[in-house]
Amino acid sequence: MDKKYGKNTICVQSGWNPKSGEPRVLPIFQSTTFKYDSSDEMGQLFDLNKEGYFYTRLQNPTNDCVANKIAALEGGIAAILTSSGQAANYFAVFNICETGSHIVCASTVYGGTFNMFGTTMKKQGIDVTFINQNDDEETISKAFRPNTRCLFGETISNPGCEVLDIEKFARIAHNHGVPLIVDNTFATPINCNPIAWGADIVTHSTTKYMDGHATSVGGVVVDSGNFDWDAHADRFPGLTTPDESYHGIVYTKKFGKLAYITKMTSQLMRDLGSIPSPFNSFLLNLGLESLHVRMPRHCSNALTVAQWLENNPKVAWVSYPGLKSSKYYDLAQKYLPNGSCGVMSFGIKGTKTDAIRFMDSLEFIAIVTHVADARSCILHPASHTHRQMSDEQLLAAGIAPDLMRLSVGIEDVNDIIADLKQALGD
Ligand SMILES: *Cc1c(COP(=O)(O)O)cnc(C)c1O
Repeated sequence: MDKKYGKNTICVQSGWNPKSGEPRVLPIFQSTTFKYDSSDEMGQLFDLNKEGYFYTRLQNPTNDCVANKIAALEGGIAAILTSSGQAANYFAVFNICETGSHIVCASTVYGGTFNMFGTTMKKQGIDVTFINQNDDEETISKAFRPNTRCLFGETISNPGCEVLDIEKFARIAHNHGVPLIVDNTFATPINCNPIAWGADIVTHSTTKYMDGHATSVGGVVVDSGNFDWDAHADRFPGLTTPDESYHGIVYTKKFGKLAYITKMTSQLMRDLGSIPSPFNSFLLNLGLESLHVRMPRHCSNALTVAQWLENNPKVAWVSYPGLKSSKYYDLAQKYLPNGSCGVMSFGIKGTKTDAIRFMDSLEFIAIVTHVADARSCILHPASHTHRQMSDEQLLAAGIAPDLMRLSVGIEDVNDIIADLKQALGD
């Protein structure tokens, strides 16, 4: 049904299409397992010869309905929900890597992703080169090796709010015979569809705007179906050579364009888990039903707040891609013409202590380790989320020591500004 409808309709209607007499609202299939009439029927499922549910660690109908909605919103052909954004990014990369592989990643990515790639995956023998995403194609290309398996970046980086030149990244990745994976968490599919600009795989922490109400940690991986794994078969043996744990199935042969997500479901979910609970997926779906209404409000509130901060003499700097002063303004106009997101970073004049005093004086803008939900909130990465990083790593990630990350909610913008104003002592 989705092809002919716009994003607003997909947000509200897609995923669950009840038949006559079935519940109007997506049911929560809170069941670990599924019953079959014959042992042969169940056997066919385990051989991947038939589609169907047997155990929620691999697949669950509530989860799949929500995944399908997100795939439709992103213009992908298939998607899979994960228990967190971390799991989504891990699965997206590990699905095409093994010991001895190498990946190239923008240095400004979310701190959790930076640690996972730079520390945890390194221990598994997967090497990463972090690059400056603003460098030219030739410079970035130097990071690629024969064993490189993907290029990774974020549409809008968390927390630096740097906007990715997705077309440039797609060209670089494809010139090297690897897919581009884009974490589209901050932009959401309402404001940007990376697949339309050449990305092959899109991930999200659904914990942020998609859920939108700070109720459930979750993630999603969406496949465009566009990357030709067989054309680079020697680089992606997991997809193009027999899987002995499924009687020698070759994913690209048996599943064609669905190879990548099918392998992720039948191998990674089977072996590593990380599936969301159906109840969390139900909550995520409620969030998605209003995503297209909330995002424009987040963006207009954020632009008003960013302009107000920029004009305040006590504020040292503001970084928001919607500001004309932003060095990402042109990229934002290209990739995010309807608005970027509700998140911005800024610093106030004075010391780190002044920044902390300012944050402690805020009334309803809360200090929380979260971002991108309906309620305005604030965080100081150098002393919170990114405190494991050295000063050098902080700077490479585009995070100044005085940087505060403000996530503008959907309250009355005048109230948000009034709270900032009183905390600044104006
Ligand atoms: C929060 C976030 C993640 C991690 O997601 P969790 O749901 O917290 O595991 C990954 N990427 C980006 C851009 C994020 O903002």
